[in-house]
Amino acid sequence: MQNTIPKFVFHLSDPCSEKYRGIELNGEIIHWIDDTERFAGMFGFTHDMRVAGVSPAQFIQREYVNRREFDFTACIQAQIIEYLRVHSKKFIQQHGKQCEKWLAQLAKIRASKEEICATCKIKPFCSH
Ligand SMILES: [Zn+2]
Repeated sequence: MQNTIPKFVFHLSDPCSEKYRGIELNGEIIHWIDDTERFAGMFGFTHDMRVAGVSPAQFIQREYVNRREFDFTACIQAQIIEYLRVHSKKFIQQHGKQCEKWLAQLAKIRASKEEICATCKIKPFCSH
């Protein structure tokens, strides 16, 4: 079995896109996010932000994409895998065994970049 960790991509920024709310793996949408606010909540988005007019996509852009001095990739990827484990039976069927390995590898990457996670809003494992 190959050791490469897959790269999951989620689509929240463009409601007009046909991929909107999709989680993509290798070019294929493998899951549709049914509650974008709850999904973004795993990354630190709060109801107060919503009330203040910030969208989940804006929040993720601001906290993770625009902060180019930090690389949150391992944190975000691990969180998506945890989400899919809970929300997608198909994911468990197809990747249930591999995903333990992926999470272990991502945990190592995160541990070696501890200074990144000190600035990371991802819950539960990155919060201090
Ligand atoms: Zn983190």
